[in-house]
Amino acid sequence: MAAKVRECRARVSAVRSPAPDVLEADLDMVDPPALEFEAGQWVSVPFGPKTVRAYSIASPPSLFAASARVTLCADVAPDGLGSRWFRDLRPGVEVRFKGPLGGFVWASAEPRRPLFVAEEIGIVPICSILGWLGARGVDRPARLIQWAREPAGLVYATELASLARRVSGFAYDPVVRSADAAWRGLRGELVETVERLVTDVTGLVAYVAGGEATIHRVRALLVARGMDRKAVKWEKFW
Ligand SMILES: Cc1cc2nc3c(=O)[nH]c(=O)nc-3n(C[C@H](O)[C@H](O)[C@H](O)COP(=O)(O)OP(=O)(O)OC[C@H]3O[C@@H](n4cnc5c(N)ncnc54)[C@H](O)[C@@H]3O)c2cc1C
Repeated sequence: MAAKVRECRARVSAVRSPAPDVLEADLDMVDPPALEFEAGQWVSVPFGPKTVRAYSIASPPSLFAASARVTLCADVAPDGLGSRWFRDLRPGVEVRFKGPLGGFVWASAEPRRPLFVAEEIGIVPICSILGWLGARGVDRPARLIQWAREPAGLVYATELASLARRVSGFAYDPVVRSADAAWRGLRGELVETVERLVTDVTGLVAYVAGGEATIHRVRALLVARGMDRKAVKWEKFW
């Protein structure tokens, strides 16, 4: 059963910068003392009566209980209200949010093979889902195509590459628009890369997260290849 949405309070316990202009914050739950959520869900941070910003939970849910700590991760380059709130997070600061929210989640009875497509910071909910699948020992083949403008923008790339080395059925394809000669991965745009790599959509369920334009184009491409529209789940960040 889906966890109930509620007002929450938490205290920042650590802040890190996993990539330039990207901040990650660990939040220790205060009220409730632990948060029940599904991998891929997000929380809503209030800035006024009708102004909120959404942040996906990067950490996977705990396996057997609600989570006493959740991690959020944000690209702070947009530099609006949400980015500035994130930049001000320091250990000890108390934060308020509403959650958990959203349906970009892994269904426990899902029988299909996942194709994850992340545009830049869209990797955040996918990280939570991958962590959850790993912890649950779901070992069917999965593929992640992660795109950023340059290698430094591939948030969590080290952890994802390490996961791909450990889990034989997990194919990880990081792609960048531009890089120096040291870059050994793929180069190009995201939609064209999906078009090139995903030629057979039989038995796939897709999770696409990032900007609206990319989501539309990836979905159109997968549907044209034969996927049911409903088999393409998406989370629009911008
Ligand atoms: C369901 C959901 C989950 C989200 N999860 C995350 C998350 O985990 N991490 C995260 O960083 N953001 C996430 N976002 C986006 C987040 O809510 C804010 O929109 C973002 O942080 C920018 O807020 P801001 O107030 O700093 O800038 P704003 O003033 O709101 O935005 C300025 C402009 O930048 C555009 N924009 C916003 N984000 C980006 C981006 N990353 N790249 C390019 N353009 C952008 C906006 O569309 C707007 O035009 C999520 C959004 C949704 C709807």
